[in-house]
Amino acid sequence: MSRWTGGEIRERFLRFFERNDHTVVASSSLVPVGDPTLLFTNAGMVPFKGVFLGADPRPYRRAVSIQKCLRVSGKHNDLENVGRTARHHTFFEMLGNFSFGDYFKEGAIEYGWAFLTRELELPANRLWVTVYEDDDVASELWQRLTGLPSDRVVRLGEKDNFWSMGETGPCGPCSELIFDQGPTIGCGRPTCNIECGCDRYLELWNLVFMQYNRDASGTLTPLPKPSIDTGAGLERVTAVCQGVKSNFESDLIRPLIETVEELSQKQYGADEKDDVSMRVIADHARAVTFALADGVLPSNEGRGYVLRRILRRALRHGRLLGLNEPFLASTTDKVIDLMTDAYPELPASRAHVARLAWIEEDRFGIVLREALPRLHDLIQNVKSQTTEQAILPGSKLFELYDTYGVPRDLIDEIATEQSVGCDWGGFETELKRQRDMSRAYLKAFGDVQGVAEAFHDVAKTRRTVFLGYERVELQASAVAVIADGKQVDRIIAGQEGEVILDRTPFYAESGGQVGDTGYLRGDTVLAEVLDTKRPLTGLIVHRVRVNRGEIKRDQRLLASVDVSRRDTTVKNHTATHLVHAALRQILGDHVRQEGSLVAPDRLRFDFRHYGPVSLAEITQIEEMVNTKLWANLPVTVEEMRLDEALARGALAFFGDKYGDEVRVVSVVDFSIELCGGTHTKATGEIGLFKIAHETGVAAGIRRIEALTGPGAFQHLKREGEVLRESADRLKSKPLEVPEKVDRLFDSTRALEREVQQLRAKLGAEIAEELLKHATQVAGVTVVAGQAERCDQRALRELADRLKAKIGSGVIVLATSSDGRVGWVAAVTPDLTSRLHAGKLVKEIASITGGSGGGRPDLAEAGGKNPDELDRALRLVPELIKRALT
Ligand SMILES: [Zn+2]
Ligand SMILES: [Zn+2]
Repeated sequence: MSRWTGGEIRERFLRFFERNDHTVVASSSLVPVGDPTLLFTNAGMVPFKGVFLGADPRPYRRAVSIQKCLRVSGKHNDLENVGRTARHHTFFEMLGNFSFGDYFKEGAIEYGWAFLTRELELPANRLWVTVYEDDDVASELWQRLTGLPSDRVVRLGEKDNFWSMGETGPCGPCSELIFDQGPTIGCGRPTCNIECGCDRYLELWNLVFMQYNRDASGTLTPLPKPSIDTGAGLERVTAVCQGVKSNFESDLIRPLIETVEELSQKQYGADEKDDVSMRVIADHARAVTFALADGVLPSNEGRGYVLRRILRRALRHGRLLGLNEPFLASTTDKVIDLMTDAYPELPASRAHVARLAWIEEDRFGIVLREALPRLHDLIQNVKSQTTEQAILPGSKLFELYDTYGVPRDLIDEIATEQSVGCDWGGFETELKRQRDMSRAYLKAFGDVQGVAEAFHDVAKTRRTVFLGYERVELQASAVAVIADGKQVDRIIAGQEGEVILDRTPFYAESGGQVGDTGYLRGDTVLAEVLDTKRPLTGLIVHRVRVNRGEIKRDQRLLASVDVSRRDTTVKNHTATHLVHAALRQILGDHVRQEGSLVAPDRLRFDFRHYGPVSLAEITQIEEMVNTKLWANLPVTVEEMRLDEALARGALAFFGDKYGDEVRVVSVVDFSIELCGGTHTKATGEIGLFKIAHETGVAAGIRRIEALTGPGAFQHLKREGEVLRESADRLKSKPLEVPEKVDRLFDSTRALEREVQQLRAKLGAEIAEELLKHATQVAGVTVVAGQAERCDQRALRELADRLKAKIGSGVIVLATSSDGRVGWVAAVTPDLTSRLHAGKLVKEIASITGGSGGGRPDLAEAGGKNPDELDRALRLVPELIKRALT
């Protein structure tokens, strides 16, 4: 067998297909662009989906790629398999060659066979293939082109050998190349064959023949230009070439295991449990490194949650190996060393990856320290409350997961150990509620309202020319007038409706910038523009209210934008770009814009970041932005090709689709972004910049609200006034306020201490008084009575004090004020097996019209009937006597 390294196999694969007229396409991000249905890129064809569907034309018809992939299914048992087998991975690289309506089955079979047998020199006599049961063409081609005997071309059914992109769309039969590892590997059963689930017959390469389109009714129609999509896992191919029994022993992953061996001072192969942990860490380190480098941040939902689960599983296995010091960053570092040849962009993320790995590891340490005791308390609690199967309630599970960040797997594992069940159904309900909330939040940014039929009609024939970058006033014609969602001839004074012009200076709401307002005027007409939107590409719609006269179709109108409103909006928009750039410089380039609002009176900027922004960082950001304003740098706008813009480092709003020609807005040496909005000519026009708030809005998403120009000045002025007024009230000067407040706090604390001492003294006196009236009930000391001027906390303290004094016995205390009764019952530990404080207090409180409960040794209750308090206290000995027998 050949001894190609993983790196050599990558090279040979790309060069082989390049020689055969394929365009080499670089791996795209693990985060699929423009495909919200998919969490991660999970196959080589994902970036080409649009090409297969005919929606995304490319200058080539043959392509070859090695695509980074991440696969973690929703079921959490799936992740649990990784590390326990020879071939399960979260992260892997997929080798693939593609034909978009170019060559078909014959080409795919010839290339696949040639690559494996000639380029990689795998012995032909150990290769098998499978074909779809009806695919006579493929079966015949395999035998004719490769000389494979017919008994090594196996026909299988739809489950194994038919592929589809989705419920509808391209689909077709597929064919798999299989390598026989020989009888020494695998189950060894006499029935072992190509369909056996064991490791002997390894599926190396899947060739998909996309030849049909499936419609909604399930009918297959042949595609005019059938296509090819193939995929082979690099790790598996490499392991086979190197003759090793598991992917983890190939040179792609083995060095990572060595790193873990060094860190843990343990030997791979010495103990199966340790081996699992080492494989888990090796696999997960790769996934973590690539996901972080591609901009995913750990969080409690979506992609970020998948990443966090992987991360924490790696950390848990680190603990199992005895790694109690941070270790993850050493393994991600090693991944970068190993992968830099294939992914030269990776070292640029080295510091970022290490920092986030470290933060997550630290955070997980806190989780283990703080949340696990909580989980154990909770388990004890549910156990003590039932004699049947104890179940952890969904709301508590969700709290542990959401607030404390305990992974589900870990909760499950510990609960199982303690024989407690988990209400995951209730958990899902809570989770869904939280997701709905964050979805509502995201919705606020997208224009998702239904688009009226009338707009679609207009858009079929008309486009609005937007001239508002240069002009704020111009003559135009009304090409359509709409009222209540229908095209009409006119709208008259007092009426509201929509007007579409042939050309307009009005900016339609997009990219976070609000739509312009202003006026439409004619000889006899005056209409106010309330808002401007773009419901469809190329169609700008003015929402108007007619004040005088009427607007008819084809009418000439003077369109004038409200200039002062536009001006302040423009200042805020340019400032938004400066904030974005400053955030990336100060917090790190993992910061990504999630949304923004650019209004005349303020700007709001939402971005991905792992924690709150500190006050010091806020100040730094303000200073950096203001420095750029004072330098009065020019703001330039250029049109260029998308790839050129990206090559220059322009930031694109993640998830947006751009055309080939894009508009690039830049501030020299500081900010460069794709943007369609309106901007100042120079930064100096913005005048002043001030951050008003920084908050979190959803998991892993922070929000900054800020002000510019006069708004910023007003804000500072207001703050100054409030400070001066506070100083006046404190009879002090503004700069001396903090000191004065400190002094006030000190004296308050001294007073509190004094109150505390007096309360303790009073408590001791009350305790003495109560003890005088202690009684014996069936040999048990009972102290029962009313304590005046006590709140619930003081009552508890009093109960503790009495418990200490009597050593063994029962205490029942009551207090009443404002028509309410408070109860505390305490039982010393030696008696809790005979008497339950919770049950006792519940019974007593019910006499005063209330209820309550608690632990066997201490419980509290309330009541709303103080008149019954004395009677209830008198009944205490009787109730205790009954409970004791
Ligand atoms: Zn087998
Ligand atoms: Zn912008």
